[in-house]
This record gives sequence, C-alpha cells and structure tokens, in this order.
Amino acid sequence: MSDTMDLRKAVIQSLQDAGADIVRFGNVERFSDPCLKKLMPEVRTVIAAAFRQLRGSRRGIEEGTTYYQYTTMSVENLEEVVMPMALHQACGVLEMAGFEALPQRRNLLVMAENDGTNPEVDYTEIYRGIPQENHLDFEQCAIDAGLGERGLSGSILTDEFGPCIRWVFILTDAELEPDPVAVPHLCDKCGACIAACPGKALSADGKRDNWQCSVYYNGANRSKNPFMPPDAFADDPERLAIIAGEAELTPERAREVLDQIVFYPPIKHAYRSSICGKACDTACYIHLEETGKLTRKFKTPFRKRPEWKLSVED
Ligand code: SF4
Ligand code: SF4
Repeated sequence: MSDTMDLRKAVIQSLQDAGADIVRFGNVERFSDPCLKKLMPEVRTVIAAAFRQLRGSRRGIEEGTTYYQYTTMSVENLEEVVMPMALHQACGVLEMAGFEALPQRRNLLVMAENDGTNPEVDYTEIYRGIPQENHLDFEQCAIDAGLGERGLSGSILTDEFGPCIRWVFILTDAELEPDPVAVPHLCDKCGACIAACPGKALSADGKRDNWQCSVYYNGANRSKNPFMPPDAFADDPERLAIIAGEAELTPERAREVLDQIVFYPPIKHAYRSSICGKACDTACYIHLEETGKLTRKFKTPFRKRPEWKLSVED
C-alpha cells in the first residue's frame, strides 16, 4: 500500500478515535471557496470531519423538561472541546508525516456583515466587519468535501444523521485520494423545517432572517418556552405578538427584545441557551426518519407523542 493511502487511513483513524462520525477527503480543485487558497496557498486536500449531535441531547426540549443538554453537549462541547481535540490529533498525524495541516473550526463570533448576527451566540460579543475572504464558507465547503447536501433550510443534510451534525476541516498540502461529492437526494422540499420554526424566521424559500431567528432561538415564543415568566416583556408594546411568534422584528427591535431575554442561564464562550433547540433541524430529522432516508437507525422514532404547546394567553 502506498504511503499516501497509509496516511489517509491514519488520518481517518485519528479522527474516528476522537469522535468523528463522517470523514471525507476532497481535492482542492473541486472546491468553489476561494478562501481556501488564501488561507493556505499550497493546499492540495481538504479533509472534512463531521460529528453527530447526540439524538438524546434533543430529548429534554422535545419533552419540555431540561434544555441545557442540547446547547452544552451538541453545540458548545462539540465546538469547544471535541472537535478542537480531534483537529489537534489528526493534524498531528499529518505533520508527523511531514505535511502541513491547518485546522479550521468555525469562529462563531466573527462575521463580515456590519449588521449581521449569529443566533447561537450573544450578539453583543460578535466582531463584525471582518472580511469574508478570510473565513471559509463552511456550508459550501461541506458540500464540496462530500459531507452531504444543502437542504431547503440551509442546513447540511447527511445520510447518517440528517442535519444533526457539526463539522470541521483540515487543509493540508498532502495529496490524498478524494471521496465523491454527494448527489442530492435527501431534501424533498417538504417544508417541515419552515413550519416548525417558532418565530417564522425561515421564509418559504428557506431563507433565514438571522435576527428573527436569534430572538426565537433564545425562546421568545411563549408557547414553546416553559421558562418564560408571566411578566416577560411586560413593558414591550409588541408583547403579545412577540410571545405568539408573530412579531416582525427589525435588527434594532430584535436587539431590544434580546436584551429582555434572561430566562435561562447563558452558556460560556458566549453561547446562548437554545430554547427552540433548532426546531427547524429537529423537524427535518423527524421527516427524514419518517421517510426512511436516514441510514443510522434507532429502535424507536424520535417523536413519540404529539408535539406539546403552551397557551400564550395563560
Ligand atoms: S425539513 Fe424538508 S424541506 Fe426542510 S430541509 Fe428537511 S427535507 Fe428539506
Ligand atoms: S427553528 Fe430556531 S434555529 Fe431554526 S430558524 Fe427558527 S428560531 Fe432559528
């Protein structure tokens, strides 16, 4: 077996030992993101590693009980602990073989847009106006690497876990055999992701309004937030519309509403506790499971009872 095949196997093994569920290799020529060459002009191969979000981490939100597992385990822990460790180890394997390896994890606190936001983090902690050409397009690179396809919601859908993954990349000057790009076959445009959003943050074509999403990711819809106290938004003139998920919020108004959301302790690293639990992705997962498209099977379906909703009037 050639040295590069041995190295490829060693990188896969290293990533899997560190918890990766899907590993894909792509030759740089097939990637459309020009940022790759800016970050590493000699890059030959892009390696993508996806990590499952445990299905059970969504159980508390599904049942309306405890909510922190999703954000701590399936966002913060993956982003801040599991994936950096995996990157460090796998990059070490490449560098021990004499190749340079550039780890790429998302930086959720920087963005190009001057008035953009990221629902997963505290909007006041974001550094805006950082040129986009210095940041990978994580979604497009995931597709080009062969991890999966883009669903209507914008989430990357995989055969194994649907949209319930987080992922990282390694850029290397090692030339390693590529995997094929995935042929889209999962998203059937069912619209379940759009219908599931508690704040109408996804338009009919799946475009996400990130400020609207931030407000409802953080739990502004009373019907899906068991932690909201009776006097929430008491002085807000749009109180009823907000808690009913009907308010159409400008970025300025969204910030005002977010400043009133103090119902649940924040996660460190500026992460905000997800109250919607990415209901768009959960609905997609349920749909893909129901239609038999997921290759990773469970003994019981995720949704076991009719979805609960609290009364907005009470
Ligand atoms: S819920 Fe349906 S429309 Fe939305 S991304 Fe999933 S498969 Fe596509
Ligand atoms: S379900 Fe949650 S994460 Fe998805 S678009 Fe709506 S608010 Fe945002």
